[in-house]
Amino acid sequence: MLEQDAIATATVHVDKPVAEDVIKPRRITDETLSLQASLHCDWQTATSNTVDDLETLAALLQLDALELRKQVETNEFQLRVPLPFVSRMRKADLRDPLLLQVLPLKLELLDVPGNHHDALDEKTYNVRPGLVHKYKARVLLTAAVSCPVNCRYCFRRHFPYDENRLTPSRWQPALDYIRHDSSIKEVILSGGEPLMLNDRTLTRLLDEIESIEHIKHIRIHSRYPIVVPQRLTPELCKRLIQARCNIALVLHCNHPNEIDKHVKHHLTALVNSRVTLLNQSVLLKGINNDVDTLSTLSESLYDAGVIPYYLHATDPVVGTAHFQVDDALAQDLALELSYRLPGYLVPTLVREVHGKQAKTRLPLAPASD
Ligand SMILES: *Cc1c(COP(=O)(O)O)cnc(C)c1O
Repeated sequence: MLEQDAIATATVHVDKPVAEDVIKPRRITDETLSLQASLHCDWQTATSNTVDDLETLAALLQLDALELRKQVETNEFQLRVPLPFVSRMRKADLRDPLLLQVLPLKLELLDVPGNHHDALDEKTYNVRPGLVHKYKARVLLTAAVSCPVNCRYCFRRHFPYDENRLTPSRWQPALDYIRHDSSIKEVILSGGEPLMLNDRTLTRLLDEIESIEHIKHIRIHSRYPIVVPQRLTPELCKRLIQARCNIALVLHCNHPNEIDKHVKHHLTALVNSRVTLLNQSVLLKGINNDVDTLSTLSESLYDAGVIPYYLHATDPVVGTAHFQVDDALAQDLALELSYRLPGYLVPTLVREVHGKQAKTRLPLAPASD
């Protein structure tokens, strides 16, 4: 343990926390911050000190930097991962399921026919800057464009975030649209990462949304509580707990190793409230495409007070072909999972299909003869 921490301490550095609305991850360059310390500093510090170079990552994980280099080729969607998430990776294991979610492998550069850039067709439904209205009664608001972590399977890696950057001064058109359509019952804060907004800005946004009478539910889709657990500050939790609307927080967690005592600890206030805690996962080849991993994930989520919601079949997005799981295999897995677990711990296997009015449910097992 001592040795590990020595290595961690030697390579990682502290920058001053950034007090901007959107925190810009910055290169780790000066003083030091150990993996251990990253679990206890404030969320801004943890966020601004991301690992974005292979040498640092190799040192932290006791991996051979040359070996790592052989498999990796950086592209414009660069390596970016905060230390608290790195702390849950196994040392000296190139196949670690958390590492593989953030490592820009050469495999991403494969040109696979049928894979496209805007797999979700979201541009079609982009009714206002930062607002996607695709399904009835609910809208998706891109509250913040950046993310503390670059997940390699990200289906929004090609989304025109710059055109959809919503600063408080630019909320109004989206809010007006919502205000003028009383069929909208739910606002979903998505991203990017909605929790990149600081508590003050997020509170203002929640206040604005809750001032619209016909909005009954607010949902926040976030990977932050997994990646940097201390993002769930007491202030943020308090605001969510005191909300007028029903609040659901949908976490993004793909593997049981992503849930540790720190994640559980920071979820406690919400678990003890009437905020609904759900999780969605992406089915990823080499990471969670087996029944043992998926059932352990469901059990671990439940232990943390979180109920599995969706399991996403992978979308045909450029750069993610190596994660894609055949539908037939995905459906087999979902069937096996339903044999092992109570119904409420079996996530619904879904996929986004162009032009459909809801996410498309994949039947539990492939049609057999
Ligand atoms: C997934 C999604 C939603 C929410 O769908 P639910 O099935 O209610 O979880 C809403 N809008 C868009 C554009 C989506 O992609």
